Amino acid sequence: MTTENSQRPSVVVVGGGYAGVNVAKALDDVADVTLVDPKNAFVHNVAAWRALVEPEWLDRIFFPYDRLLAHGTFLRDRAVAVDGRHVTLASGRELAADYVVLASGSSYPFPAKSDEPDTETARARYRDAHEALLAAGRVLLIGAGPSGLELAGEIKAFFPDKHVTVADVSPDILAGPYDQTLRDELRRQLDELGVELQLGSPLTALPAAAPATLAPVAITTEAGDELTADVWYRAFGVTPHTEYLRGALSDARDDRGYVRVDEHLRVIGQDGVFAVGDIADADRDMAGIAGMQAKAVTGTIRNLITGEGEPVAWAAFPPFIAVPLGPEGGAGLLPGHDGVAGAAVIAEVKGRDMMVDNFAGLFDAEPATTR
Ligand SMILES: Cc1cc2nc3c(=O)[nH]c(=O)nc-3n(C[C@H](O)[C@H](O)[C@H](O)COP(=O)(O)OP(=O)(O)OC[C@H]3O[C@@H](n4cnc5c(N)ncnc54)[C@H](O)[C@@H]3O)c2cc1C
Repeated sequence: MTTENSQRPSVVVVGGGYAGVNVAKALDDVADVTLVDPKNAFVHNVAAWRALVEPEWLDRIFFPYDRLLAHGTFLRDRAVAVDGRHVTLASGRELAADYVVLASGSSYPFPAKSDEPDTETARARYRDAHEALLAAGRVLLIGAGPSGLELAGEIKAFFPDKHVTVADVSPDILAGPYDQTLRDELRRQLDELGVELQLGSPLTALPAAAPATLAPVAITTEAGDELTADVWYRAFGVTPHTEYLRGALSDARDDRGYVRVDEHLRVIGQDGVFAVGDIADADRDMAGIAGMQAKAVTGTIRNLITGEGEPVAWAAFPPFIAVPLGPEGGAGLLPGHDGVAGAAVIAEVKGRDMMVDNFAGLFDAEPATTR
């Protein structure tokens, strides 16, 4: 639906996370882009654990949306119903577009991700969480996936005297399609850092205390081990944000709440509606993949707009991953790198700067229309 003021096609992007900001930015020169997000700033949550242990990083992880688009519009609002290419917002406003890109991502327990829509309030929550961590002598992390391991490494790098335990029902760390040599290297480094692993036995219950707050924690595993701490963090539980899908779009959700897409990341059975990033069932839930999917979909939409070229197909990625353990530690599997990439490589590609510079360039526009 071209608008009165423009002959350019319209694109509504639902969600301004890693996928949505890249889609909106890449189409800003060829379409009338409207980006919708309830937050006032993009949050680079990949560096959230670093901001928890070192709050100076709070100045580097929030990027206001009003500097993203040169032509398009940022609407601080929430999609409450999307039916085909018709979007209803919490404010009551209705949008109809030629193309809709669903990029509403996922939630994950604070402080790994924050669902607080106001930046200042979110920053204050992080500072409170930092104070709680500072005061804690013993820390319990539940979940030995990449997120829990990263937090263990961050805490030991910045506060070597704190006792850190990572608990998981799995018999090994880092479940998923990764080579065992990566687990072995991470375990070697965790051992060197003095991180205690409690693996292979379910907890009888989660701690009663709220996570990320200073409160006594005492729980047991079914194997009978007692775990005590002064603060705990929940490092598991990705939930895709797809509750607002209606009509045939709602039918495209799978049992876990992910949106089923075809090889061009088009929502199954939909014309002009795409899904990218964590909500799409196309690949793993990773910021890097969200960014690459944004590239594929913007390629397709550009080709549809110009009438040139073919839709861009998405091919699932091999299991690349970079797991920093503090700014100078960690290990990973990287494209173009044979075998396990060690601490020096991971520090260089991620651990030291946590990739914040990638976003400084994206958010360099003169303030765009914000309503
Ligand atoms: C601690 C931690 C570390 C991580 N580190 C890495 C890493 O190093 N590398 C990596 O590749 N991945 C990493 N990830 C995973 C990565 O964060 C996710 O894969 C990524 O956030 C997905 O991006 P997205 O754009 O799909 O969604 P999100 O980043 O979740 O963004 C979704 C956006 O949509 C908005 N939204 C939600 N609902 C609505 C609605 N109804 N209307 C409008 N807007 C809405 C939200 O406010 C949000 O801004 C990490 C995750 C965590 C928790």
